[in-house]
Amino acid sequence: MKDYIDMAEKNGISLEERGACQFCGAGTTRGVHECIEIFNLGFQLINYTQIENHLYRFLSVDAHTLQHSEIHGRWNNHFHLTRQHLMLDYKVIWNYDLSPILSNYLNKYKINRTNEFLKPPPILQRGKITTTDVLSNSKSEIECQRMIKKWALEVYQSWSDHHELVDTIAIGFINKNKKQLRIIEQL
Ligand SMILES: [Zn+2]
Repeated sequence: MKDYIDMAEKNGISLEERGACQFCGAGTTRGVHECIEIFNLGFQLINYTQIENHLYRFLSVDAHTLQHSEIHGRWNNHFHLTRQHLMLDYKVIWNYDLSPILSNYLNKYKINRTNEFLKPPPILQRGKITTTDVLSNSKSEIECQRMIKKWALEVYQSWSDHHELVDTIAIGFINKNKKQLRIIEQL
C-alpha cells in the first residue's frame, strides 16, 4: 500500500517525513504516512459487520481521499465528491455494489471530458477535522460515528465550488440506476 508515494512523485509533490500531515494538518509526528496509517486502521470502534455501519467506511474513504488529492489520481476527485454528494445531499443509501456502478458511469462520462479537472481547495483548507481528531475524540462507537459524519460534512463543504458540476453527474447516475438505489433520510 505504498501507491500513494508513487502518486505523489508523479504529481511532483515531495512528502514530508516529520510533523503534521502536510495535506490535512492532522496532528501526526510522521506526516502523511501516519495519517494514512490511522486511516487504514479504519476507526475500529465501529462494528463494520453491521450493514448500516458501512456508511461510515464510505464517508471516511471519501473524506480522506478528498483531503489528500495530491496522492490520488485526478479522477478520484470526481468519484469521491460525487459519492459524497449522493450520500449527503441526495441521501442515497450507499452499498458496496454501487461503487463499481458509479465507477463505470464515470468511465463513460470522462471519455469526452479529457480536460475536465476538479481543482481541489488549497491544502490545509479541506475541512478542519482530520484523522487524528476522529481518533482522539472517539471513545465509543457513537462518538466515532458522529466524528466521521462531521468530518465528511466539513470536507464536502470545502469542495463547494464543484457541487454544481457533480450534481449533474449525480442526477445522471440516479436516473440511470433508479431501480438499484434506496434513498431515505439517513443523516
Ligand atoms: Zn492527512
